[in-house]
Order: sequence, then structure tokens, then C-alpha cells
Amino acid sequence: MDLHEALGRILSRPPLKDEPMSLHTSMKIGGPADFLVYPQNVEELRQVLLLAAQNDIPLFVLGNGTNLLVRDGGIRGIVLSLADMCSSYVFFNHSVRAGAALSLSKLGWEAAKRGLSGLEFTTGIPGSLGGALYMNAGAYGSSISELVREVSTIDFHGHYLVRTRGELEFSYRWSNFQEEKVIILECVLELIPGDKNTIMQRVNSIREERARKHPIYPSAGSVFRNPPGKPAGFLIEQSGCKGMEEGDAQVSYQHGNFIINRGNATAVNVLTLIDKIKQKVRDNFHLELEPEIRIIGENGGE
Ligand SMILES: Cc1cc2nc3c(=O)[nH]c(=O)nc-3n(C[C@H](O)[C@H](O)[C@H](O)COP(=O)(O)OP(=O)(O)OC[C@H]3O[C@@H](n4cnc5c(N)ncnc54)[C@H](O)[C@@H]3O)c2cc1C
Repeated sequence: MDLHEALGRILSRPPLKDEPMSLHTSMKIGGPADFLVYPQNVEELRQVLLLAAQNDIPLFVLGNGTNLLVRDGGIRGIVLSLADMCSSYVFFNHSVRAGAALSLSKLGWEAAKRGLSGLEFTTGIPGSLGGALYMNAGAYGSSISELVREVSTIDFHGHYLVRTRGELEFSYRWSNFQEEKVIILECVLELIPGDKNTIMQRVNSIREERARKHPIYPSAGSVFRNPPGKPAGFLIEQSGCKGMEEGDAQVSYQHGNFIINRGNATAVNVLTLIDKIKQKVRDNFHLELEPEIRIIGENGGE
């Protein structure tokens, strides 16, 4: 079967072949995906899922690519983006029904404008709503799971499912979706009515703090999960890792838990740096750091 031709028959937007993932990740790193596709509606999506299932083709769901390290050999199979079909939202009562491809911080801003509290922590998180649910994104003591009322998914065989909060599991940077082969399509979040000025002040102070703390170079946010008790950034800094380099990858001077790409860093550079940081923290604190970023794809590339 010619996969390019088969995808071309299903999709109204032509599939991208051998598409560099460096163009679709906030780290600006990653080899080519065999195919990157943008279904325009659920029917096109379902047909891509069926084609992949019938032919044993691996699938990867891409959000905004802000928590990803894609290896230099790229991704085999089909990378799916919902960017053309799941970006709408509607507020009702004190809730919002929103598509998975919607920008998380845009949603937070829209809620703040309406005097609805709960999403202030999302200010400046560059991910999509789907990625945030998958990762249970959080900051400043809050996380997205606290607001979830229901989530709709479609599995890799094309079955649609709506689950309420009680049927879902979340913990620190973890959700049940990480153990399932599903695509998050949309969700309903329950927000808290509040004073618009107070909410806006909180949004603005978080924006200013992030502008101060976050490096301007490409990154994927925090590289490591915080072990219980101490932030990973503190452990990394105390272990003398700030400024450590491997090719164009560098441990940020501004934030110890960020690895930045100063130009032409490769995934191998970042992975080598990750190993070196882990070793230093192990030596100094007898602690094993675990990556928070998702490391995917194949070794290789130039
Ligand atoms: C500067 C910066 C600051 C950040 N700050 C924070 C922070 O404060 N807190 C925080 O938690 N994170 C932070 N992040 C990390 C990142 O933005 C979040 O984890 C975000 O939720 C990831 O969303 P995404 O759409 O980019 O997902 P991606 O990186 O594209 O994907 C992440 C995972 O989610 C899966 N996924 C994405 N969409 C779907 C979907 N619709 N259905 C099924 N699976 C899906 C992907 O397959 C992948 O496994 C930061 C990143 C950057 C670059």
C-alpha cells in the first residue's frame, strides 16, 4: 500500500511527508515524521485511525509540541494534529466546553475576561488543552485536573467515549490518558466565578514572573519532574549544572530545570546533557531525577 496516496484520498488537507519535527516543537529539535496529518473533522480523523489500525501503522498525537523531545531520527508512522478541527470553545453557566487543540493560555485569558477563576495558572504555558489534560499540566500549586468535569476521546480504533471526572485519574503530571491509546477531543472545565480585577491581577503577576524566570531561547519547559520535597531546578543548580553545555544545548542560567537550544542543538546533545545532569544530582543528593518531558522517536539523523 502507498500510504501517501491512501492518506491523500482520505484527507482534504494534503498530508506532509518527511516533515521535520523541529518545525513543530518548542525546542526546535526533532527529525522527520513519516507523515504529519491535519484531519479537518471527526470523519477524516476516524478514517485515518482505521487506516492505521488495519495496516499496523504507529500513530502519535501532537499537541503544540511544547513538552516534547523528538529524537534526531524522527517519528515512524503518522503524526496527527487536531489543530484544524478542535479549536472552538463555548462558555456556559460557569463552565467552558473547549476543543483539545485550543491554546491553554488563550482559554485562561478568555476565562479571566469573563471573571471566571481557576485557569490563571495557565498564563504563559504554551501547550494545547489536550496536551495539558494528557500531562495534567500545572503551576503555582494548581493543575488542570482540578477543573475537569468531563473529557471526550476517540480511541485508535475509532470508538468515541465521554468520561466524567469520577471515571478519570490524575496525579502530578500524570493522567490515565498516558496509559491509553486515545486522542483527547474536547473537555468541559468547571470554573469559579470571581472578581474580574483580582483575576486579571493574578494573570498579570504570573505573566511578569514567567517573563523574568523563563529563558527566551527555545525549550520544552521543565525537563525533570520535581522529586518529593525539593524542586528539580534547585537540585540541579546546587549540583553545579547551570550553564553546562553539550553542542548548542545548555542548562539555562535563568532556570536550572530548563535546557535551552541556543541554535543547532540535536536531540543527542539534549539527551547527553540530561544524563550528565542526572549523574551530578545522583552524586550530590543520592536522588534519581526523572524526565517530565516526553522523549519520543528514533535515534539517528545526521
Ligand atoms: C516555556 C515553557 C513553559 C512551560 N511551563 C509549564 C508549566 O508551568 N507547567 C506545566 O505543566 N507544563 C509547562 N510546560 C510544558 C508544556 O507546555 C505542557 O506540558 C503542555 O501541557 C503540553 O501541551 P502540548 O499541547 O504542547 O503537548 P505536546 O508537547 O504536543 O504533547 C505532550 C504529550 O501530550 C500528548 N497529547 C497532546 N495532545 C493530545 C491529545 N489531544 N490527545 C492525546 N494526547 C495528546 C502527546 O502525544 C504527548 O505525549 C512549559 C513549556 C514551555 C516551553
